[in-house]
Amino acid sequence: MALSTCMRCESMFDKGKTAICPACLPVEEADYEKVRQGLQDHPEMNAEDLAASVGVDMKCIMRFLDDGRIETTAANAAVVCGRCGAPAISISKRLCKSCLNRLDAELTTQVSQISLGKKKNMEVGSSFKTGGNSSTVKFQR
Ligand SMILES: [Zn+2]
Ligand SMILES: [Zn+2]
Repeated sequence: MALSTCMRCESMFDKGKTAICPACLPVEEADYEKVRQGLQDHPEMNAEDLAASVGVDMKCIMRFLDDGRIETTAANAAVVCGRCGAPAISISKRLCKSCLNRLDAELTTQVSQISLGKKKNMEVGSSFKTGGNSSTVKFQR
């Protein structure tokens, strides 16, 4: 008989069709039901959001996906980047990885440009003052 390690409780059990031991199987089925319901109610969610929303372990959802028991292809495709249309990294951000990086870079550039501009103005103002003060100095002949 082939032994396998249960994916949930990590105990050894006689390997059957599933990666779950008989003791954990009811819990696994209950989780599956939650995930299935969650996907039905919110088909736009990706696996990560789904895990958080139904309170099922991410590993568990990945297992269902691997087994082909659930499909999130539709769910993942529904969340696309608002800039380029590529699959978004999360439903709340609605940006893909590369656009998110680009946006971060743009923001950093903008911020540094603003602070540079401020610095320049201050320098101009202070140099005017110095010029005004120095004009009071009289030269003796
Ligand atoms: Zn188990
Ligand atoms: Zn994008």
